[in-house]
Order: sequence, then structure tokens, then C-alpha cells
Amino acid sequence: MTARIIDGKAFAADIRGRVAEQVVALKADHGITPGLAVVLVGEDPASQVYVRSKGRMTVEVGMNSYSHRLDAGTSQQELLALIEDLNRDPAVHGILVQLPLPDHLDESLVINAIAPEKDVDGFHISNVGRLATGQKAMVPCTPLGCLMMLRDHHGSLSGLDAVVVGRSNIVGKPMAQLLLRDSCTVTIAHSRTRDLPAVCRRADILVAAVGRPEMIPGDWVKEGATVIDVGINRIPAPERGEGKTRLVGDVDFASAVERAGAITPVPGGVGPMTIACLLANTLTACCRENGLPEPEGLTA
Ligand code: NDP
Repeated sequence: MTARIIDGKAFAADIRGRVAEQVVALKADHGITPGLAVVLVGEDPASQVYVRSKGRMTVEVGMNSYSHRLDAGTSQQELLALIEDLNRDPAVHGILVQLPLPDHLDESLVINAIAPEKDVDGFHISNVGRLATGQKAMVPCTPLGCLMMLRDHHGSLSGLDAVVVGRSNIVGKPMAQLLLRDSCTVTIAHSRTRDLPAVCRRADILVAAVGRPEMIPGDWVKEGATVIDVGINRIPAPERGEGKTRLVGDVDFASAVERAGAITPVPGGVGPMTIACLLANTLTACCRENGLPEPEGLTA
């Protein structure tokens, strides 16, 4: 069997298109423009790239983008004061603090200072609890993107065996919660899991969120399973020239594509979905804030 390749780039473009249409309608019908504030502390090069593309795509879908770049020495108090201002600002519907923060700042204190209804990353403890207890929450963007792709491919996920490899707070755990909410039978695997190959081979849905290049070979994949590869790993690619690199996932794509029923590539799978879901979350936050119906098909 050769798997269907799930095109995350096209899927994400479609989501951004749907968000953009609803932004037009919000402006026309209610005079409201959703706004996303992104806060970056320091000069981490990867974070700068992410923040730039988030800002660009926010504007492309017709939303207001507010960028706050603070220097690496910003104190906790200064950062908390900015968050407090953004919490109070009615033009700001979503707030994202780019992680990681410099070492002297307390990440969980900062995240939990964001008003939960503006926490478009879904990392606030109240959103984590809401997701776990089946209440309306802001859902972390990467797992939300994975869920959308899975629902699109399968329709109903009810009763399927899902294995999530990785138990981080930003990917593994919320992914497992979302799959459970959609009535999958969920296993969370991690570095202490015994006989990981056997656990993976049970999965109708296999989500890899580990951060180890190509660690899941094709023979760990059940025939016909859906494989969602969250991993983004940069490895040397001498075949492309000296010093060149390329991106690979946590799954060995070449062998897994021969066994899976559907699979996300890296790059071009889960990655593009993350920013699209950030925009979807900002739209959702704006609709909730204004007592309007939530955008259809763009929430968990
Ligand atoms: P973390 O490092 O926070 O978590 C990794 C998880 O993998 C841990 O739970 C760890 O287990 C588990 N793990 C590590 N080694 C093994 C192993 N040998 N066998 C089984 N499990 C193992 O990573 P993140 O969740 O933040 O990210 C995971 C990957 O996803 C990374 O490649 C990251 O770049 C990518 N990512 C991609 C995004 C996107 O937009 N596409 C967004 C976010 C992340 P334990 O808890 O026991 O240590």
C-alpha cells in the first residue's frame, strides 16, 4: 500500500482562506477587526523568524497585528505590565508570548498572566484544565491542526486506537486530550514506554511528537494507519552540498509511506497548520469576546 500524502500546506492555505472570509464578514456586519498581539523577548533567531511569519500571515487574513519586541534584559515586572495592558486592550483578541523566554523569566508565571480568553496558544492553566474536563477552551495550535487533518481524513474518529508518542505540554498531552474527546482509545507513549514498536503497531492513528529524526521506522506502522508526524528535525544533508541540511520528521517517511493509509510529510505537513490554527484561534477568541457564533470547522 502507498499512503495518501496529507497536504498540510494546501490544508493550511484553505483554513487561512476561511479565516479571511470570516474576517471580512466581521468587519462588514459588526465593524470588528480581530487583533493578535505577539510578544518577543530577546533575539533568538528562530523565534524572530516565527514572529515575522506570524505577523505577516495575520495581516494577510485581514486582522490587525501588534508586534512587541522587547530586549533580552526585560524584567519580569516589565513583561507582566505589558501583558496586563494587552489583557485590557479591547482591540487585542489574542495574545501570544513567543517561547522560549530568556532564562531569568518565569515562563509559567508569564503564560498564566495572559487573560485565558485571549490565550490563543492554549497554554494557560485554565485552558489546559478546560480542555481536560471537556469545557470550551482555547486549544494549542499544533494539536488542533493535527485534529483538523485527522477529522478531514477520517470523518469520525470514534473508537479508533490512537497512539501519541511524546507527552509534552504543548503537543503530546493536548493531542491525547483532543483524541480522547473525539472518542479514540488513546495511549500516550514516552521515553520510558516498554516495547514502543508493539505499542505503535496497534495504532489506527499514530502521532509522533518526539523530536528525534526518523526514529519511527515503517515496520512500526500498522498497515493502513494514519500517521501524523509533528517532529521537525534538521539533519546534515551532504548530498546537497557541503554544510547543507534538510528537515525530517520523527517518522522515517520513505518506509512509513509504504505501510500507512495516510501520512503527513515533513516539511509541508503539520508545520504550516500551526500558524493557520493560531489565526483560527484568534478569530474564535474575537467571536467569543463579542458574543458571536464561533467560526464553523475551525475549533476543536
Ligand atoms: P519535547 O522535547 O517537549 O517532548 C518530547 C517527548 O518525546 C517527551 O515526552 C519524551 O519523553 C518523548 N521521547 C523522547 N525520546 C523518546 C524515545 N526514544 N521514545 C519515546 N518517546 C521519546 O518536544 P515537543 O513536544 O515540544 O516537540 C516534539 C517535536 O515536535 C519536536 O521535533 C518539535 O520541533 C516538533 N514541534 C513541531 C511543531 C509544529 O508546528 N509542527 C510545534 C511544536 C513542536 P519523556 O517525557 O519521557 O522525556
